[in-house]
Amino acid sequence: MTDGPSYGFDTLQIHAGARPDPATGARQTPIYQTTAYVFRDADHAAALFNLQEVGYIYSRLTNPTVAVLQERIATLEGGAGAVCCSSGHAAQLMALFPLMAPGRNVVVSTRLYGGTVTQFSQTIKRFGWNAKFVDFDDLDAVKAAIDDDTRAIFGEAIANPGGYIMDVRAVADIADDAGIPLIIDNTTATPYLHRPIEHGATLVVHSTTKYLTGNGTVTGGCVVDSGKFDWAASDKFPSLSEPEPAYHGLKFAETFGPLAYTFHGIAIGLRDLGMTMNPQAAHYTLMGIETLSLRMERHVENAQKIAKWLEDDPRVDFVTYAGLESSPYYHRVKDVCPKGAGALFTFAVKGGYDACLKLVDSLEIFSHVANLGDTRSLIIHSASTTHRQLTPEQQEAAGAAPNVVRVSIGTEDVNDLIADLDRALSAATA
Ligand SMILES: *Cc1c(COP(=O)(O)O)cnc(C)c1O
Repeated sequence: MTDGPSYGFDTLQIHAGARPDPATGARQTPIYQTTAYVFRDADHAAALFNLQEVGYIYSRLTNPTVAVLQERIATLEGGAGAVCCSSGHAAQLMALFPLMAPGRNVVVSTRLYGGTVTQFSQTIKRFGWNAKFVDFDDLDAVKAAIDDDTRAIFGEAIANPGGYIMDVRAVADIADDAGIPLIIDNTTATPYLHRPIEHGATLVVHSTTKYLTGNGTVTGGCVVDSGKFDWAASDKFPSLSEPEPAYHGLKFAETFGPLAYTFHGIAIGLRDLGMTMNPQAAHYTLMGIETLSLRMERHVENAQKIAKWLEDDPRVDFVTYAGLESSPYYHRVKDVCPKGAGALFTFAVKGGYDACLKLVDSLEIFSHVANLGDTRSLIIHSASTTHRQLTPEQQEAAGAAPNVVRVSIGTEDVNDLIADLDRALSAATA
């Protein structure tokens, strides 16, 4: 299909990036299960390796099935280009890689996916990078944390697990003033509920493992570039603005303009870090993404009903869902995610730690797993699993106190889900 900005989200999630297969006319995107691609002749090969011509060389860098998914996600996010990779965590490293160098830092929200907290607070130090954790509700603290070595700001639009909603526009303005990009992890919102680029973000990262695939089959990640950041405006981003020795002194910003960051992600990032998405994974995610809006509508509708039901239940102490008027983030929903506050929240069970364990073990439809964004409803007691190494104070700060469980509400019949919770709450608090 021709890319028309006039097409609606429901059309683009099915068609963007895909064309009938030129060789066979296949309507569905084929899985191009190949490692390498035959060059037309020696000149063609040389042009490809010099980045003078765009084409397929080797599937560590590019693959036609993965390319369709990249264009699909870039279109849904309103970006100029996207690079898919092997997981959400790979996407985060790929996003930072062109920006960072030893001694540089990234200012990050204290409210992040637990695995991201570990990646940023521990692992990236091995590269000489540093993350400064700041409460993003304190905009003065965000400004104060930025120094001459800061190369990006990183936050989640809707943060896991507590239903926190970020004021993306306000933080984007701070990033603009500092001449650095804002990176938004949009995994839990998806572009159906929130489009960070429209709120001023430069880059968007996804764990496609979650809602974009939606069926719990494959891990994957994606980095989307808005194409709007001027990498050559300062000397802060030499990987993009200065001559690249590995490509005969080519300057990415000058040569590729709005696609500079995306080309760098493929030609340097995937080539040398090798965190590539395989075409099978891209296929499963393409199958899922076709129904993204339909699923998200149902996820949100179910989450809203269940959060309200739980809040009114005497066996429950509190519910942290931004779609509830009791949430301190309720007022941000209409600006940041007017179609709904996602489907991920926590609630506290009267009876504390032991009651939470009993609840998790008594549920039939909800599965006890460390995942989210599946069509299936999922639950986890973080204090005894993902957050068990932390002290009770750290668990509390992370929104994972001992008396709290996190749910990812699926698309099943909401009455069945409420009946399941009702039965299990009775067993847990008996
Ligand atoms: C799951 C998740 C990640 C990590 O993604 P993987 O695909 O598991 O590597 C990052 N951010 C958020 C918000 C997530 O939910």
